[in-house]
Amino acid sequence: MGLPQSLVEGYRRFVRDRHAPERGRYIQLAELGQAPTAMVIACCDARVDVSAIFDAGPGELFILRNVANLVPPYEPEGRFHGTSAAVEYAALVLKVPHIIVLGHSHCGGIAAYRERLKGNANGNSFIARWLTLLDGLELRESDVSRHSQETAFELAGIRQSLANLRSFPALQEREAAGLLALHGLHFDIASGEVIALDDNGERFAALAA
Ligand SMILES: [Zn+2]
Repeated sequence: MGLPQSLVEGYRRFVRDRHAPERGRYIQLAELGQAPTAMVIACCDARVDVSAIFDAGPGELFILRNVANLVPPYEPEGRFHGTSAAVEYAALVLKVPHIIVLGHSHCGGIAAYRERLKGNANGNSFIARWLTLLDGLELRESDVSRHSQETAFELAGIRQSLANLRSFPALQEREAAGLLALHGLHFDIASGEVIALDDNGERFAALAA
């Protein structure tokens, strides 16, 4: 089976409408390397189009996507830490000044975690193991009172990922030195609304549009 025709045609449009007009920018990026504005840790969900949400062009965002936008805690003895490797590279090599955890509405990963809480466990799959990163998740009163239960879980997941980012000693140091800021955002697919965690980590409020 070949590549879907829609993708082949999409690539043609990319070459013609995007790459060709911005050739200079792409050549510069190729020669000088990347210096992204931020790292974004988002979900694999096909509906969360990170570059579109931020209207970002090539070279602007260092994007990592995994199921439910999770970050494991700092585990130097662990194996195959793809997410931690990307975080390390962004913070220590690229020295990004911002890391954004971007959650979203209708997250299947968070929903699967909630199913497991109800006792509908799903064995030893990779995804079940991955979602144990959410074990012990505690909902915040400030989230529950302002958002739906479903959203409150998604927000708690974002808070958990931020806490785990802060378990990386190098990130702690950069944040304390004012060289790195961590942000928690949540994207609502249907309305397009993005809410952001305030600087005190207290509550999520609409990002000024
Ligand atoms: Zn998701």
